[in-house]
Amino acid sequence: MRLWIIIVMIFPGFLFCLQKDQYAIERNRMVNTQIIARGISDGGTLQAMRKVPRHLFVPSLYAREAYSDRPLPIGYNQTISQPFIVAYMTELVRPSGGKRALEIGTGSGYQAAVLAEIVDTVYTIEIVPELARESAARLELLGYRNIISKFGDGYTGWLEHAPFDIIIVTAAADHIPQPLKEQLAEGGRLVMPVGNPATVQELVLLFKRKGKITEQRLTPVRFVPLKRNREK
Ligand code: SAH
Repeated sequence: MRLWIIIVMIFPGFLFCLQKDQYAIERNRMVNTQIIARGISDGGTLQAMRKVPRHLFVPSLYAREAYSDRPLPIGYNQTISQPFIVAYMTELVRPSGGKRALEIGTGSGYQAAVLAEIVDTVYTIEIVPELARESAARLELLGYRNIISKFGDGYTGWLEHAPFDIIIVTAAADHIPQPLKEQLAEGGRLVMPVGNPATVQELVLLFKRKGKITEQRLTPVRFVPLKRNREK
């Protein structure tokens, strides 16, 4: 009788561990087949992608699909990017310890968490109040003390904390906002989808060297539009 009680008590914990292991297996498979296989080689990026529990950043309805090779809905008409795109953008900005990053478009908080595994501090801005609230709570719960988030329009950046070594914009516009170019540190890198926000864009990488900005156009991508806060 007592044995049964013990079994009944530890069984849910056992199932939970199995499930957790299953996600770790899926996460490693994701990194091997979707990310390394497509040419991402930066050690920090790969390690972060193996660590961050992506299934906790999507609505529970989609947890089982969290490691599949596609973007997923996160509510409010927004999406979490495909894992490869997150890894690609992360590698492009050359993250390393000691750097400070700004992200525009917190969404679920996943990209911010991946960056925060590598850099010193991540500042992130989200324009949908519910998403800003939910992601801040999630990041807090997961223990990301080096992510500072706020609700607002990221078009104008975050002057108070500028300059940033890294700027990642995860929403599309037909141009790179001037304030973001200005808030990029010397030697810094900015990546953003630029093009028609309603259809397809190109990932653009921008460097600042000796105060001069150069641009490199990369691969076609599809992101949700960068919104503007019209009240301002
Ligand atoms: N990086 C996110 C996914 C981004 S989806 C993740 O890892 O989950 C794009 C996000 O940008 C959406 O949440 C959208 O609400 C937000 N967004 C759009 N325009 C914005 C703006 N002007 N300022 C801040 N966030 C914005």
